[in-house]
Amino acid sequence: MNRHVVVIGAGAVGAISAIEALRAGLRVTLLDPGLPGGEQAASYGNAGWLSSHSVIPPAEPGVWRRLPRLIMDPLGPLAIRWNYLPQATPWLLRYIASGWTAARIAATARALRPLLVDAPALHEGLARQAGVPQLIERRGLLHVYPSRADFEADALAWTIRRDNGVRWLELDAAALHRQERALHPRYQFGVLVPEAGHCRNPGAYVAALVAYARTLGAQWVSARATGFHIERGRLQAVRCDDTEVACDAAVVAAGAHSKALAARAQDRVPLESERGYHVVVESPEVMPQLPLMVSDCKLIATPMETGLRVAGQVEIAGLGAAPDWRRADILRDHLPSIFPALPREFPRDRLHNWLGHRPSTPDGRPCIGFARASSDIVYGFGHGHVGLVGSARTARVVAQLLSGCAPEIPLAPFDPRRFA
Ligand SMILES: Cc1cc2nc3c(=O)[nH]c(=O)nc-3n(C[C@H](O)[C@H](O)[C@H](O)COP(=O)(O)OP(=O)(O)OC[C@H]3O[C@@H](n4cnc5c(N)ncnc54)[C@H](O)[C@@H]3O)c2cc1C
Repeated sequence: MNRHVVVIGAGAVGAISAIEALRAGLRVTLLDPGLPGGEQAASYGNAGWLSSHSVIPPAEPGVWRRLPRLIMDPLGPLAIRWNYLPQATPWLLRYIASGWTAARIAATARALRPLLVDAPALHEGLARQAGVPQLIERRGLLHVYPSRADFEADALAWTIRRDNGVRWLELDAAALHRQERALHPRYQFGVLVPEAGHCRNPGAYVAALVAYARTLGAQWVSARATGFHIERGRLQAVRCDDTEVACDAAVVAAGAHSKALAARAQDRVPLESERGYHVVVESPEVMPQLPLMVSDCKLIATPMETGLRVAGQVEIAGLGAAPDWRRADILRDHLPSIFPALPREFPRDRLHNWLGHRPSTPDGRPCIGFARASSDIVYGFGHGHVGLVGSARTARVVAQLLSGCAPEIPLAPFDPRRFA
């Protein structure tokens, strides 16, 4: 009998891990209490960036100096709920430490680049096989800045990207506005990264990937995993709320909810939800040609199948706190200053707000590797801001670990026990 693997969580990482495990000849059950491609998953509502150049972790040198000002700014891109601060403090201290020096950031970039480098091509292939080729585009991604000086203020990040093989085109104001006619004239400089791509509907993409996994033979179980039944180091079953699913191996790919499951497998992982928001404007008056990272507003505006999606914000408030929709309003309110043809007010039925949980480690690297309690349990979680783009390579590596093959990229930087 083939080894039976239960994949816990059917976001981008779990769905593609299921596909890769099936391709490796394993028997697969996908376990998730939510709908495939549903709003409960971060994979539903992200900005769709397949940014193979996103190798810079969120914490940069000197972030601690800017942190108090950022937190105090009610309209800024970062918020911390004060009642959650005591719980978040250890994670925040590690986060600041991980970006303390340029050398630490460069080390993370070197680790992330092999995970991301050919992600647009991998996702293009997956979308084709899943019957949704139209959802992946490979026309590049654009960073827009008010001026060249603002781009130069980001020199550390771009230098590290260049050292890792990222190439880009610099657009002066004329070239930028030829490319993006709807963009506000106050943006005078652009950086086009041609190797990158984007997904035009991440929720529909994940739903199609799960459907494809099922055509390959995956079973679907609608249940929430709560732990593991392990005997003498060998996994017997995944425990769920009301039942157990017998299996020989498991993958923990439950996004921001993976921390509790890892604890059940004897690993204490500093995983925090970096809560993010999006607003989709249906039938917008104008659309950008390419997804834009708008540097001064710290948000991404992506042309999606469903409308114009503007995504961003980091809110540290834990998994359980109610959404603070003012954070989505901040994103919406930036829109006319980016695309002047958009109105200041939209009818409520043209706007869709969403909150999601980025599964974030303090150093911006995912956890990929075996659990302490049993090498039958493989982790694939903690991708923070790069979980859509990083899911394709992660899934291949997860399948290699499950099959006893050597992983195709170095895994030491993603060791789940590196924080110990
Ligand atoms: C606003 C925003 C913008 C973003 N933009 C980008 C971007 O442009 N590009 C990019 O690459 N990344 C982006 N990200 C990050 C990316 O969305 C995440 O890193 C990625 O989706 C994580 O995927 P995942 O499969 O690990 O987790 P998820 O997509 O969260 O899926 C986890 C699944 O596990 C299930 N689950 C949870 N607990 C259990 C349990 N106990 N048992 C069974 N199932 C369980 C959930 O129901 C869910 O379906 C963004 C995130 C946000 C919030």
